[in-house]
Amino acid sequence: MALRVQKYGGTSVADIECINNVADRVVKAHDQGDKVVVVLSAMAGVTDKLIALAKQASDTPDKRELDVLLATGEQTTASLLAMILKSRGYKAKSFLGFQAGIKTDTFSGKARILDINGDNVMQALDNGHICVIAGFQGADENGAITTLGRGGSDTSAVAIASSLKADVCEIFTDVDGVYTTDPRICSTARKIKTISYEEMLEMAILGAKVLQIRSVEFAKKFNVPVHVRSSFNEEEGTMVINESSDMESVVVSGVTLDMNEARITLKCVPDQPGISAKIFTPLAEAEIMVDMIIQNTRSGGETDITFTVTKDDFERAKEISEKVAEEIDAEDVLTGEEIAKVSVIGLGMKSHSGVAATMFKALASENINIRLISTSEIRISCIILAKYAELAVRTLHCAFNLDKEK
Ligand code: ADP
Ligand code: ASP
Ligand code: MG
Repeated sequence: MALRVQKYGGTSVADIECINNVADRVVKAHDQGDKVVVVLSAMAGVTDKLIALAKQASDTPDKRELDVLLATGEQTTASLLAMILKSRGYKAKSFLGFQAGIKTDTFSGKARILDINGDNVMQALDNGHICVIAGFQGADENGAITTLGRGGSDTSAVAIASSLKADVCEIFTDVDGVYTTDPRICSTARKIKTISYEEMLEMAILGAKVLQIRSVEFAKKFNVPVHVRSSFNEEEGTMVINESSDMESVVVSGVTLDMNEARITLKCVPDQPGISAKIFTPLAEAEIMVDMIIQNTRSGGETDITFTVTKDDFERAKEISEKVAEEIDAEDVLTGEEIAKVSVIGLGMKSHSGVAATMFKALASENINIRLISTSEIRISCIILAKYAELAVRTLHCAFNLDKEK
């Protein structure tokens, strides 16, 4: 008898027919004798609709109340699935985040899970219940409802699997697994059978939204085996697990695309010690995450400093930069929102050279100009114009032979 945590994403619970399909799967696992904990997202599109509603109520919706509102999406699906299971004669019980013992910090809209007290859920499982937990939410130390950031139900599921010491955390979604690149952009993308936590983390950070970043961090930290698979067929999906020796032979294992960044350039800033600190300290104080940074030295003791932030933070980052630019006597602040970040990822890069050259040559062959470059041990990222994004993904996928069976 295994303990399985099954998470179903928005498209898998999009309507009652889909939720009935989820119930079929849950019941199948339960009837096999497994203990089943289900974690659900809101119905596809519902979180977006709730955000739009909040914006109608206020230009700057109160963060605490926004969390209360957003959490209702998952409350709806959890109760509906529990109702369906009960009407089929099964013992089932829904849990909101706080009822499942999910304690978070107080950072509304992007809260982190601090601790999970799984006693209530464990007790219900021991009594033969199927436990249905609303994903994406928890409560802080004062009992206020919090949400975990977009895609946060993945993190709820992995964290719950970890705290209950589940045998597996199954992430049921609308694709068959983790692919070499987004299969919606590149038709020759291939399903990856197993991927290391480290590579999956890079893919998530660099834009593959199939798993939320924090869910992979959690899985890696607590060694939770994650199986990403489709809720619409019975195919084996992708196992996300610890690095194994045969994985290292793949130099590049995936290509990702992130359309959620924007660029800010401070032109002609004095080339002096302390200038970068003056620019980036106020951004850090405003809790704005800066991604890429590049400095071009000009003649005459001046430099241009360019960096990228997420589109959500762009307006605030621009305002702050304009203020700093005045203080440090920079010539101008230039911005660009029409950019994309394409990246290639692979553990094998640690021990192979030539990946960057292949990447740059492939982009050049399509006349795609590279604006910014950044690298880590296991990835290379380039900022390009947004209009070339999908072409770049397909070009890189082909250049690294990812369309071919290994
Ligand atoms: P869910 O609603 O089930 O949480 P998401 O929309 O968050 O699903 O994530 C699944 C989507 O992730 C897929 O539909 C696919 O377009 C996208 N995606 C991006 N990169 C990849 C990748 N490398 N492999 C699989 N899916 C990917
Ligand atoms: N419903 C939330 C979202 O759309 C959380 C999730 O689906 O994982 O981001
Ligand atoms: Mg998701």
